[in-house]
Amino acid sequence: MSPDLGPKPRLGYTQSLIERVAERRTDQAWLAAAASNAGARVYVIGGEQIILKKNGSAIDPLFTLAEARAFGSNTETVFLGLMNGAARFGVGLDPAKAPELKSRNDLLIIDLRSIAIQGLVGADDLPPLAEAKALLNWHLKHRFCSNCGAATQVVQAGWRRDCPACKTQHFPRTDPVVIMLAIDGDRCVLGRSGRFAPTMWSCLAGFVEPGESFEDAVRREIREEVGIACGRVAYFASQPWPFPTSLMIGCHAEALSREIIVDREELEDARWFDRDEAVAMLQRKHPAGLTTPPPVAIAHHIIRAWVEKERGVF
Ligand SMILES: [Zn+2]
Repeated sequence: MSPDLGPKPRLGYTQSLIERVAERRTDQAWLAAAASNAGARVYVIGGEQIILKKNGSAIDPLFTLAEARAFGSNTETVFLGLMNGAARFGVGLDPAKAPELKSRNDLLIIDLRSIAIQGLVGADDLPPLAEAKALLNWHLKHRFCSNCGAATQVVQAGWRRDCPACKTQHFPRTDPVVIMLAIDGDRCVLGRSGRFAPTMWSCLAGFVEPGESFEDAVRREIREEVGIACGRVAYFASQPWPFPTSLMIGCHAEALSREIIVDREELEDARWFDRDEAVAMLQRKHPAGLTTPPPVAIAHHIIRAWVEKERGVF
């Protein structure tokens, strides 16, 4: 029988309400009208730091364009799309200047992971914050042409940079990362990195390499990190992970071997966990205090889907 883990929480940064209206990105008159509309709002990002507005005890992630520009030290302004018909933009602040705003009582300067985990903003604000953060980070790192070295220019409302010297067009990048659970019937493999909180164990993960399918990347990463051979790989779900510009591809993988050989360069430890132990970790009731990552992260959902024997998970 499946354990009762309660209603499924929403996966962080997903189910965006933003309508990107990509066809408007070259329409300067339309963009100008959308920006001057009374409902237009912006998210303000200073590198890894998000600028939030404090209204008493309430926290608001949205500013007017005038408020955002008044901070000074603006980098780019990008058009995210429409949310409930109103334009949403992302405004970048020089990451070196963002910490200076911490002295202001009317602002909260905090990283996006903390915002998501602590639930500081509504769940519907997380996807556009992820979109703005990833896109503005790409701009910060791609000011010069990777083909000829000349300074590039922003076009398409922030969705492309063109090189005036060699004419190369540069598009925002997303880096695919596979994140997966190796399964052998009623057991799964979890690992922990030295960067994790001391009690947290999670799925294995790694970047997809050029010329590699997601399935091959899943099998390679599991073999490299814990020495286990895998057969079938089943796609589960994906999650934007704007730290800085990743896309997590969640999968389950069928383990064909049992012996774990931990790659100590990558992981502090890895071992088999049975289903009951994983349930206790998801419920925060493990006798040794071990936990999975929180529901904001896809690893939580990958583990839960296996525990609950969701269809399609072998
Ligand atoms: Zn160039």
